[in-house]
Amino acid sequence: MLRVTFFLAGLLAVLNIYLTEQTIVQAVSVLCILISLGVATIWPEPLPPPPPSDLWSEAPETKEREMKQCSNCGKAVDQKWSMCPYCSKKV
Ligand SMILES: [Zn+2]
Repeated sequence: MLRVTFFLAGLLAVLNIYLTEQTIVQAVSVLCILISLGVATIWPEPLPPPPPSDLWSEAPETKEREMKQCSNCGKAVDQKWSMCPYCSKKV
């Protein structure tokens, strides 16, 4: 909405140039065009559109932990463990 306002100000300045005969008014209008159109193109929208509701649906429900297999009993053991909790042997 703010960008539209600046854009309209630029259009009004263009009209001013056409309707006036004085050089200083034309110069001010050119300045107004440059500033307003520049702001209209650069200014970010104040409220970005909300993210889609299914943004997080693709994320896995539970994070898979790094697992390795015990060399003694073959069961899955957490990656950072050095001892197997099932057979108490070194992994
Ligand atoms: Zn084991």
